[in-house]
Amino acid sequence: MTQRVALIGKPLRRRHSQVMHDAAFEAAGIDARYELLELEPDAVEAAVTEARGPDWFGLQVTAPYKRLVAGLCDEVEADAATIGAVNSVARSSTGQLVGFNTDAPGFRAGVELAMSRSLTDAAVVLAGAGGAAHAVAFACLDAGARRVTVGNRTLSSAVALAERFDGVADMSIMPVALDSPAFAVALGSADLAVNATTVGMLEAGATIDVDRLPAGATVFDLVYVPAETPLLRAARDRGLRAANGSEMLIRQAEIAFERWTGVGGMADVMRAAVAPLLADAGASA
Ligand code: NAP
Repeated sequence: MTQRVALIGKPLRRRHSQVMHDAAFEAAGIDARYELLELEPDAVEAAVTEARGPDWFGLQVTAPYKRLVAGLCDEVEADAATIGAVNSVARSSTGQLVGFNTDAPGFRAGVELAMSRSLTDAAVVLAGAGGAAHAVAFACLDAGARRVTVGNRTLSSAVALAERFDGVADMSIMPVALDSPAFAVALGSADLAVNATTVGMLEAGATIDVDRLPAGATVFDLVYVPAETPLLRAARDRGLRAANGSEMLIRQAEIAFERWTGVGGMADVMRAAVAPLLADAGASA
């Protein structure tokens, strides 16, 4: 029986995840396929119910359904519940659906590679307060970052994010407006500046003024299409360490794959499989 995994979202702009997982299934000798399900909101519940069947490993979930699917799982793991988003679901042998979040550990793995150091004790400035920013903020708190400043275009969303994570760590997140002096000041002593907005992907421009960053800072952009955003180009021009979100994407996929199949260590296979898509800035599906 061919096992199944499906990515649920709308719109589904890319097939990077499908390419990575199908390559890993093949490399591991597992008869399974990764499907893309672009669904209307009223079709999500039925798709989740179907994934309780014996031929399913589980699901992946992207915008705008990460919260909706969390509510349809039988269990949501503690980290995903704190983040408020389920981006992966595993089916247990009894057909129970367990929701979890691989964006946070995927971000941590990707960013620590980019920084060549741990997030522990780092001063972080984060642009954005959407779904991805929640996973990034949680990963920073969980890793023991020294300071996390979150700047968002809509200040109330940054405030809500900070309140959500109150009590997760010893220190609290500082919410500010993206265009505020406080955001600019925080950049001045940041070890890490992260873009977790859609700026650079859906529209031109950059959320972070790299000229304000110290020489030793790292710039991490969650965007991976295009491979080099204006932010990353500016950071590299200044001689800063800079990385896009491709390694986060690969690491989060590796974590989900291991949860479904018990087979770990697939990052190299996935990286090789997705490389042509990552190299092609226009690649989408
Ligand atoms: P989201 O929930 O829709 O959040 C979008 C964020 O972008 C919000 O903070 C929004 O601010 C901000 N924003 C949008 N337009 C802006 C503008 N013109 N100026 C300033 N801020 C603006 O999206 P998401 O799911 O968090 O995804 C964010 C990015 O992360 C996307 O590019 C996505 O592809 C990427 N991502 C990458 C990975 C990976 O593995 N590398 C994983 C997840 C997501 P407001 O609140 O003011 O609207």
